[in-house]
Amino acid sequence: MSDVMTKICDLTKGYEPELISLRRYFHKHPELSWEEIKTTDRLEEELGKIEGVRILRRGFGGTNSGLTAEIRGEKPGTGAGKCVALRADIDGLPVMEENDVEYRSQVDGVMHACGHDGHMAGLITAARTLSQIRSEFCGTVRLIFEPAEESGIRGGAKVLVEEGALDGVDAIFGLHLFTLYPAGQVLYRSGPCMASADGWDLNITGKGGHGSAPELAVDPTIAAFMFGNAVQTLISRETSPKETAVISITSIETSTKTRNIIPESVKLMGATRALSGELQDRLEAAMRRTISGIAQMTRCRMDLDYMRFYPAVINDPALTDILKDAALGLFGPEDVKEAPLNMGSEDFSFYGAVVPATFAQVGVGDRNRPETCNPHHSATFDLDESQLWRGAALHAGFAWSYLNRA
Ligand SMILES: [Zn+2]
Ligand SMILES: [Zn+2]
Repeated sequence: MSDVMTKICDLTKGYEPELISLRRYFHKHPELSWEEIKTTDRLEEELGKIEGVRILRRGFGGTNSGLTAEIRGEKPGTGAGKCVALRADIDGLPVMEENDVEYRSQVDGVMHACGHDGHMAGLITAARTLSQIRSEFCGTVRLIFEPAEESGIRGGAKVLVEEGALDGVDAIFGLHLFTLYPAGQVLYRSGPCMASADGWDLNITGKGGHGSAPELAVDPTIAAFMFGNAVQTLISRETSPKETAVISITSIETSTKTRNIIPESVKLMGATRALSGELQDRLEAAMRRTISGIAQMTRCRMDLDYMRFYPAVINDPALTDILKDAALGLFGPEDVKEAPLNMGSEDFSFYGAVVPATFAQVGVGDRNRPETCNPHHSATFDLDESQLWRGAALHAGFAWSYLNRA
């Protein structure tokens, strides 16, 4: 195993100049969710240059964004019928870049502020490496370039699954570059890994009136205050201290903004996150129960619009063992760690609902260069490019390990 892992590292490092320049190309030309047309053009062009890569489909969700392709191994063996998918997301964000770098975004108000530029360049590089070692694995590697990971309302992974991107796939691997983790660290985690993401709007309608005569009004602010307190007890009193979830109220708005009028209505917005589907269901049901009780008590009408964006990312334990071994083989024990729980979310979870899946994280925050340690989605986000090869090598190393064990 170690011979192949050394070869994967050497090949991948050999492609580093192309890897970095490709990442910079994507960084200069970011596109928003479901609009990744030029991005997909470039991906198609790059894949076309790699021997043994076949494009399966271009365009998902009624757009021309996104791409799937495959590389077939040439080694005969028991894994010949197996197919492992590797996924990279490809969208940018509505952020105006503030970095003064040569490769800064050339599109006003759009930026690769989450590192998806590095994900794409990494997966193209992994395809180059896998193409060079085709004789050393059996089975098929499916490459998935997913649009619209950041969309929330209409995440790309859900659409790709519905449109058959995983047909014939036995397992899937994905990774995220993270500035939160020190440069070079490679993190795996078995079981729950990232949280579900739900968002909700609560419209409370009472009866407006004069501030001096509350008895003639039905005050929706009281219902809002009661809800604000009660909803937190769903975490502190109805969720076990051993489970992990969070509810945050993120916006409160009244229909009038003066000192002497009781408003007609109040609108609250918020977010709920949990580390299991069961807890996610339970919290939504508990929130509905709480609301109906408060509505009855306060005589207000309370309408909840509850939106489920992404389920929790739950990593398959057997697949995560393969990932961990591959990472140790590639990078050695110093750089490979168990990831802490991450309350961020990822639409990669939609793949995990269909086939065994595991999601890794790769540290790209160089602590000696603070400009590479800024938060994701910020206007000053950037990453340590010298670690990009690790993501690429991890894709290739995982695929090789999976297919040679199957
Ligand atoms: Zn993001
Ligand atoms: Zn991201």
